[in-house]
Amino acid sequence: MEAEMTQAEFESQWQPIPGEDFPLPACPKGMVLLKAFADAHPDSFKFIRPEDFVHFENDAFAGIEEWDVFASHCLSCHACNEL
Ligand SMILES: [Zn+2]
Repeated sequence: MEAEMTQAEFESQWQPIPGEDFPLPACPKGMVLLKAFADAHPDSFKFIRPEDFVHFENDAFAGIEEWDVFASHCLSCHACNEL
């Protein structure tokens, strides 16, 4: 098993693709919460879809504490909603 990614490595997964508008799915605080979810539930995180960052209603993640914390942050965070 590989060592855990750093926060910077984790966020680098969302580096903008040249010519495409592909921002990070959350503000810096939200990204920390998202990484906590990814670290705690890597098998679930693999199945995350772009629309999960819009609606936060993926049944597969319902009840996962780290996801619920991330989703409730994004839904109430002004910075995340500006993205
Ligand atoms: Zn936020």
